[in-house]
Amino acid sequence: MRDTIPNRPDLPAEIARRRTFAIISHPDAGKTTLTEKFLLYGGAIQMAGQVRAKGEARRTRSDFMQMEKDRGISVSASAMSFDFGEFRFNLVDTPGHADFSEDTYRTLTAVDAAVMVIDGAKGVESQTQKLFEVCRLRDLPILTFCNKMDRESRDTFEIIDEIQENLAIDVTPASWPIGMGRDFLGCYDMLHDRLDLMDRADRNRVATSIRVEGLDDPELDRHIPAHLLEKLREEVELARGLLPVLDPQAVLEGHMTPIWFGSAINSFGVRELMEGVSTYAPEPQPQSAEPRQISPEEPKVSGFVFKVQANMDPRHRDRVAFVRLASGHFARGMKLTHVRSGKTMTVASPVLFLAADRELAEEAWAGDIIGIPNHGQLRIGDTLTEGEALRVTGIPSFAPELLQSVRANDPLKSKHLEKALMQFAEEGAAKVFKPLIGSGYIVGVVGQLQFEVLASRIGLEYGLPVRFEPTQFTSARWASGERRALDRFVESNRQHIAHDHDGDVVYLTRLQWDIDRVVRDCPEIALAATKEMQ
Ligand code: GDP
Repeated sequence: MRDTIPNRPDLPAEIARRRTFAIISHPDAGKTTLTEKFLLYGGAIQMAGQVRAKGEARRTRSDFMQMEKDRGISVSASAMSFDFGEFRFNLVDTPGHADFSEDTYRTLTAVDAAVMVIDGAKGVESQTQKLFEVCRLRDLPILTFCNKMDRESRDTFEIIDEIQENLAIDVTPASWPIGMGRDFLGCYDMLHDRLDLMDRADRNRVATSIRVEGLDDPELDRHIPAHLLEKLREEVELARGLLPVLDPQAVLEGHMTPIWFGSAINSFGVRELMEGVSTYAPEPQPQSAEPRQISPEEPKVSGFVFKVQANMDPRHRDRVAFVRLASGHFARGMKLTHVRSGKTMTVASPVLFLAADRELAEEAWAGDIIGIPNHGQLRIGDTLTEGEALRVTGIPSFAPELLQSVRANDPLKSKHLEKALMQFAEEGAAKVFKPLIGSGYIVGVVGQLQFEVLASRIGLEYGLPVRFEPTQFTSARWASGERRALDRFVESNRQHIAHDHDGDVVYLTRLQWDIDRVVRDCPEIALAATKEMQ
């Protein structure tokens, strides 16, 4: 099947075998369970339950983590690497909660494909839809897993129709479910004409596959009750007549998604999905950058920071920058140029996220994610190269949807507060704006919960109790234009102007009407809801 995909013979085998992807879903659809099964099949963990157990051990470490646990959400995202057959999978975890979507968006700039998990009873939910739209902006190939087929779920055609209509993408069935809920037996593998039966007794066992010669094979009668078999034959015939056949090129271009049906908790359908990722998700793709695109097979190493996480280990005040390698073969101890500052850094202790634990990365290839511990030099959007002045593009920063002012309870500690806020701004955890008029800072986030997380982290990490309070502003837009025009704009709108942590001009307001007015009356000024990280 691979030879139907445009192959790139010049790609070194180590790069060609890499699949870097994320799982997107609405909370509760089964992302954690599926991730765990991926690791189990990849031999990275011995027993299901370890990911969650480990997560819980980590969460009890601090009050902040306690809050995370209480809310039942996962604030931190990470990357996991494991082998599946001849392939190396790099699964980049995305936080599922809507309040952390900006982080998720940026994570999606570091992957070449996404697996979309939907709940068979609920179909396409709001967060799935939002994340899908982001994948679409980047034309990311998407493979779909319809989970929880062991429960009462919707009719198969209905699920497929809903995806096609809500997401405007062609859907092609890679497997077809037999029965549902209590009667769910397994799937007919439409790609390999195979019968896959689910073993309800053992949740951690791979399904039994029975090879059949099409839907008329008498072998089917031995395993499927007559009424379900009749329904299966009818439905598959109908599906083959009505639904598009799998076109690997259309999948790569993001116009078509193959769908597998299964039950993550019962380990059913997972291996087929993983085989699907190996076959239909692409190898590491070229990266857009200025002044030129970067190809993965280039011998020189380059990469970019898509996430920064502080205090992963409370005992060390380090930060880890998550770097997606865009090209080359990286070896530990390499000297890389930090393009933004022009400085050289020796990457002495890079971390590879081998499933269960952080390990020192001796080597890594294009497509891999490595963690680089640092003291704040590395920011989201930064590019690292072996000397060439390249700048990776397309890593967005979104205008916050909620704005509040922040104050230290002790006014003498405002310098400390400033330091904490700068750290969070650089980490990408919040937008920090310094208004032109008055003192203090305005913090912008995408979801309300982030204010609580920030207050809790500032308290814990800086020993600084703070208060968030409402401001008169509800929207922020980055303003740009020719220097003199921008100065004039700033002068005549002083009460609306602030600077972000990079010093860029931001226009704050409460009214959409104000924004429309600027657009109408100041054609020389551009207002933007997103900014490229730099
Ligand atoms: P996440 O929020 O997307 O990470 O979802 P989780 O993996 O935590 O799953 C949410 C809930 O659904 C948990 O209680 C799981 O045990 C349950 N679940 C996950 N997969 C399945 C499945 O295939 N069948 C059933 N019946 N429940 C499942």
